[in-house]
Amino acid sequence: MNTSHDRAAGISSALSSVRERLAAACAAAHRDNDAVTLLPVTKFFPASDVEILYGLGCREFGESREQEASGKVDELAGTLDSADVRWHMIGHLQRNKAKSVVRWASSIHSVDSARLVNALQTAVARAVDDGFRSSALDVILQVSLDGDVHRGGVERDDVSELADLVAGADNLRLSGLMAVPPLGADPDAAFADLQEIHDALVQQHPGATELSAGMTGDLEAAVRHGSTCVRVGTAILGSRPITSPLQSPDHTSHN
Ligand SMILES: *Cc1c(COP(=O)(O)O)cnc(C)c1O
Repeated sequence: MNTSHDRAAGISSALSSVRERLAAACAAAHRDNDAVTLLPVTKFFPASDVEILYGLGCREFGESREQEASGKVDELAGTLDSADVRWHMIGHLQRNKAKSVVRWASSIHSVDSARLVNALQTAVARAVDDGFRSSALDVILQVSLDGDVHRGGVERDDVSELADLVAGADNLRLSGLMAVPPLGADPDAAFADLQEIHDALVQQHPGATELSAGMTGDLEAAVRHGSTCVRVGTAILGSRPITSPLQSPDHTSHN
């Protein structure tokens, strides 16, 4: 028997384990527990799972596919207190989705081109005029640690220029940096590298303090290297129906 009660119990216990795991990682790294936000990633899972997480105290959720996410946000509009919830877009975003994403996202972790920045700036301005949002959009730049931009991310040498562009846009707030370790890379080496790039960004833009790093498999390494936000899906909600959206066709299409 697989009732919604079983599902809620399962998520509750998995969430507790992840919270303990994160607390242990913070303690081991001599960091405050609240220095690192746990962002549950709900992509591929139904709105009912988001409701369960909300009931367990979660107020921020990560999604990686624009259409799926906007459907889920609409579905939950009558259920969750939306003033209380922050949705994060963490997956590759095509420019033609800018108009739609700014209606639900508080923050985007995957911004990696000037063209996307410009599209988001225009889209937020319009959404504010049309009453769909009232606040600026938090922008986290995704950096490619191995220069393979087909997997998303701006090259490290282009971070500074892109950061200046975001910082100069009225409706965007430069919030920080995100990266996913290259396939097969040692997470500690990858996150140490990311931390250096982030340190340089903060020198230039002191407000860009967020470092979105770490997932189910590597959150401890990310916390050792300054992560302020771990994006965790599998360890909380279980395996997704397809292997990894990081490798889905959507991630190879650039615009
Ligand atoms: C799916 C996804 C995650 C969550 O990955 P898990 O390994 O399931 O924790 C984190 N970040 C991004 C960008 C993702 O697309």
